[in-house]
Amino acid sequence: MIVQSLKLEGFRNYKGLNVTFDPGINVIVGENAQGKTNLIEAIRYFSDCRSHRARTDRELISFDREEARMEMLLESRNRQFKLEADLRRGVRRGLKSNGVRLKSATELAGILNTVLFCPEDLSLIKAGAAQRRRFLDDAIGQLRPRYAEAVNEYRRLQEQKTRILKDFLDDPAVAGTLDTYSLRMCQLGAHIVHYRAYYVEKLKAFAPDIHREFSGGREELGLCYRTVKTVTDPLAPVQTIYSQLLEHMQSHKRAEWESRSCLSGPHKDDIDVEIGGVSARTYGSQGQTRTAALSLKLAEREISREDREEYPVLLLDDVLSELDARRQEFVLNRINGGQVFITCCEEEKQGNLKAGRVLRVDGGKVIE
Ligand code: ATP
Ligand code: MG
Repeated sequence: MIVQSLKLEGFRNYKGLNVTFDPGINVIVGENAQGKTNLIEAIRYFSDCRSHRARTDRELISFDREEARMEMLLESRNRQFKLEADLRRGVRRGLKSNGVRLKSATELAGILNTVLFCPEDLSLIKAGAAQRRRFLDDAIGQLRPRYAEAVNEYRRLQEQKTRILKDFLDDPAVAGTLDTYSLRMCQLGAHIVHYRAYYVEKLKAFAPDIHREFSGGREELGLCYRTVKTVTDPLAPVQTIYSQLLEHMQSHKRAEWESRSCLSGPHKDDIDVEIGGVSARTYGSQGQTRTAALSLKLAEREISREDREEYPVLLLDDVLSELDARRQEFVLNRINGGQVFITCCEEEKQGNLKAGRVLRVDGGKVIE
């Protein structure tokens, strides 16, 4: 997938932008608060018509405008697409693909796949398990909409079950429905564990090689999927996982009542990440854990390519800081194949770029 050009009118700090991109590497350079991340956000928007940082489309419209217009030309699945979005205050957004009005964002699915690495992802390894689960859920969900549906339903049920445990245990009519929730959560949970286990296997096939090259052959990355204790083999058939989840749920029923919280299920899953045989979370340095986080994202890109037979567009926002020269060089010059966008500040080593294009962003304008 190649984003060829982007037009923005009234989008964040872009009054009027018309820019073309390199099919390979695009380095977006500029001082703080000039619009680098806004540009990444605009590109990513067309993958699912959501911003990765705004809660509503309203935030995307320039402060002094009533509407934002976005237009992207891209090549995907050997076809040419023109995607348009029209965001207006208080009115439903308008979306078009090749001039045809779309009913919803789901019709855009698969036209533009992106893998985004934003500054928060630098802490993917050091952060709590929730962030690593989100990584898995987003990555698998982009490729398998049915997984995303299962995760969403599971979350809804978990919220409802937690509310019952917290507030309604004394009401027998409501408390009596708890088992129904738990059963459905085990069914969905078995599918979720199954997908996650296979996805981590894929990560294992790509991420360690990437990490090794990234670190100049110095570091070995190890990954292991952790789920509910009773699940002896997460790669087992869904039915087997289901009965093992059920077993765990039943043995924790009393503890859930007593603690008034939802204790049993894959909502506590995690990926153990090791560097050189020891826990990266406990012992890894800043640079090491950032390298590992990036290696996971680059592995996500390879998995997406394997699945779709085409590289997704890679968006790297502010990743160069705190990587040493060798690792920065890897990011700039050795991510091969597919289109890449990298933002960085002037002082970061963009001088080392061997191929591709440098775009300078200054106050909502792009100067080449
Ligand atoms: P940094 O290097 O600090 O990450 P950046 O170049 O990535 O900076 P952006 O996050 O793209 O900066 O933001 C640039 C500017 O856009 C900010 O100063 C912000 O105030 C402005 N901005 C954000 N939303 C809007 C909006 N809806 N209308 C107008 N300007 C906006
Ligand atoms: Mg930024």
